[in-house]
Amino acid sequence: MVVAIDGPAGVGKTTTAKLLADKLGFMYLDTGAMYRSMTYFFLQKNVDLNDIKDIQENIILFENIVEFKIQNPMIIFLSGKDISQEIRRVAVTNYVSQVSAIDDVRKSMVKIQRSVASKGNVVVEGRDIGTVVFPDAEFKFFLTAEYEVRALRRLKEFNKMNENINVNQIKEDLLARDNYDSNRKISPLKKAEDAFEIDTTNCTIDEQVSIIFKEIEKKNE
Ligand code: C5P
Repeated sequence: MVVAIDGPAGVGKTTTAKLLADKLGFMYLDTGAMYRSMTYFFLQKNVDLNDIKDIQENIILFENIVEFKIQNPMIIFLSGKDISQEIRRVAVTNYVSQVSAIDDVRKSMVKIQRSVASKGNVVVEGRDIGTVVFPDAEFKFFLTAEYEVRALRRLKEFNKMNENINVNQIKEDLLARDNYDSNRKISPLKKAEDAFEIDTTNCTIDEQVSIIFKEIEKKNE
């Protein structure tokens, strides 16, 4: 069974999906972290995003050295090194939308995402999970929140990591990424028609989890 949770940055997808997976006893898959790890690798290798050959060669190299450890929270290793924290940094965040708009990158990631789901029940969070990756998912949720609230949530996360960034830079990043992610040709950020939408502006994380959990219980009755 797949529970798909989509939505823009800063709506609390990650925390919600992790708690929900625990509550349901499901696997947890953070697809944003997957795109971030490929971006981290591309930055290390100085991949030219205008050169399709360079991109394709580096996707293969990446696939050979990456390990997505499916646990909660998910851990990502590159050549045995845990990069789960590194991929959250501003340098990766600034670049990730461009990398994830590339068709070959998405094909590689989607293949891995479907293979994980074939192994059992999973909560999957991302941008295109209910629309493209798992259009037949049993449960689809789309989270939203007001822009100001999302920026403040992100600021808290960066503060915890001691990243030197102010709220205006975060707002710019959110706008730019929303814009890029929503308008790209392949698999744009979009609510699936049959997804249940939740505005999380005034919700605590526990409330978000509980709304989703109740919806799942209701449908399963
Ligand atoms: O969720 P998170 O902020 O970590 O996602 C980082 C970026 O990865 C997004 O801004 C988007 O560009 C990309 N992404 C995507 N498709 C997904 C998940 C994330 O394109 N399913």
